[in-house]
Amino acid sequence: MALLADGVSRLLIDGKLTSGGAGAFVTVNPATEEVLGEAADADAADMDRAIGAARRAFDETDWSTNTELRVRCVRQLRDAMREHVEELRDLTIADVGAPRMLTAGAQLEGPIADLSFAADTAEGYEWTQDLGQASPLGIPTRRSVVREAVGVVGAITPWNFPHQINLAKLGPALAAGNTVVLKPAPDTPWVAAVLGELIAEHTDIPAGVVNIVTSTDHALGAMLAKDPRVDMVSFTGSTATGRSVMADAAATIKKVFLELGGKSAFVVLDDADLAAACSVAGFSACVHAGQGCAITTRLVVPRARYDEAVAIAAGTMGSIKPGDPSKPGTVCGPVISARQRDRVQSYLDLAITEGGSFACGGGRPADQPAGFFIEPTVIAGLTNDARVAREEIFGPVLTVIAHDGDDDAVRIANDSPYGLSATVYGADSQRAAGVAARLRAGTVNVNGGVWYSADVPFGGYKQSGIGREMGTAGFEEYLEIKAIATAAN
Ligand code: NAD
Repeated sequence: MALLADGVSRLLIDGKLTSGGAGAFVTVNPATEEVLGEAADADAADMDRAIGAARRAFDETDWSTNTELRVRCVRQLRDAMREHVEELRDLTIADVGAPRMLTAGAQLEGPIADLSFAADTAEGYEWTQDLGQASPLGIPTRRSVVREAVGVVGAITPWNFPHQINLAKLGPALAAGNTVVLKPAPDTPWVAAVLGELIAEHTDIPAGVVNIVTSTDHALGAMLAKDPRVDMVSFTGSTATGRSVMADAAATIKKVFLELGGKSAFVVLDDADLAAACSVAGFSACVHAGQGCAITTRLVVPRARYDEAVAIAAGTMGSIKPGDPSKPGTVCGPVISARQRDRVQSYLDLAITEGGSFACGGGRPADQPAGFFIEPTVIAGLTNDARVAREEIFGPVLTVIAHDGDDDAVRIANDSPYGLSATVYGADSQRAAGVAARLRAGTVNVNGGVWYSADVPFGGYKQSGIGREMGTAGFEEYLEIKAIATAAN
């Protein structure tokens, strides 16, 4: 059966696919500005029912304790997605504006495969650890440490890599024994709603265990953060919204897991192959039109070779033409919306106001009258104090900054409210590793190494977040720890 057959997606609440209390809203193809169809628009009553269903499923079924069932269900979801992968690919390209080539990786097939890691981790997990017998306070006691699910998880996600982020929450949260209410971004409702269809029709996931609530109303996300029936909120999005989620969760002392923004540095040491490093930096900044939280958007290069570095980055970025994401060769598609395009443009205007100049790009491409496209842009002539070097732009924009040696490069890279990711390029790999060790960031790529993998924890220092997604650490975010002490005779 075709997914979203009638062009209208539904909510998944308590095992049933339903329409939204607030009606429906359109979802738009960002590459063409054409309306794709409609998504159910949930209201507060829908969210209330979803939270109630998740609470009941956690409290009244054996989901949290039946590991075999959970492992099977997570694998069923993976298999159902694989069976529909071509449909999902087309849908992802259309709903997200994701370049086709990325759907072979982090935009689709990567996260589907990563569900295996969640299921395997649950299957092989040491749920109970025997600490043996001791006599604390002189009382003979047998001690064990038990891991168990946190409870009801409210998952709130953004639009940029929606499958990756939705599944990096759903997979481990479910495998660990939680029930979930997923509230995806209103910009990409279909890629989330389709999970609801697959779960309802192709898995044994019991009613209420997963609820998917699409809505234009951001307040429904805040409801999840505030509601006392929700035990944990797992949020990915901007730092500003993350701050609000954390404040809302404070009243009920909820466990808060945050994956937030970034302004990551690409550090080029003076012994590096400058041409190779700056081309890679330029290419990376264009991927998915720069809409990746961990993309390195500050290129930090030796001062003596600054002009050369700018020219190389501009040569690469100037040659990447933003275009139709459905074409196999496209690297840089559209940004998600007119609002986002205008936001990126306002940062480009700001770069000039701040005294910078464009080595390439700087505006909307003349040959793309429809769609939310921005030209890949290199900003030169600014220091790390500029707002365009400090604030997340979330477009295909690279700011090139000069450094005066390794210590200065580390200082600049770390001089950011964010600490999500970083890259270091240098010919002497020990020296590059030494620089990497001094960077305050959750993931570091040295000379092109790839940290993105199901078994590698991902997350940020400082205002880039709290906690880690993926890897065993990402699974354990969804677990509580209970110590049991039994008097031994
Ligand atoms: P956003 O913060 O505007 O929205 C994210 C989600 O939060 C959406 O579902 C939205 O409806 C919801 N939301 C909005 N206001 C809310 C509130 N007050 N309470 C609860 N939920 C609320 O982010 P976005 O614009 O959709 O996504 C882009 C941002 O996400 C960028 O800043 C990017 O860096 C960040 N991001 C981070 C990571 C990471 O892993 N660190 C990954 C992807 C994206």
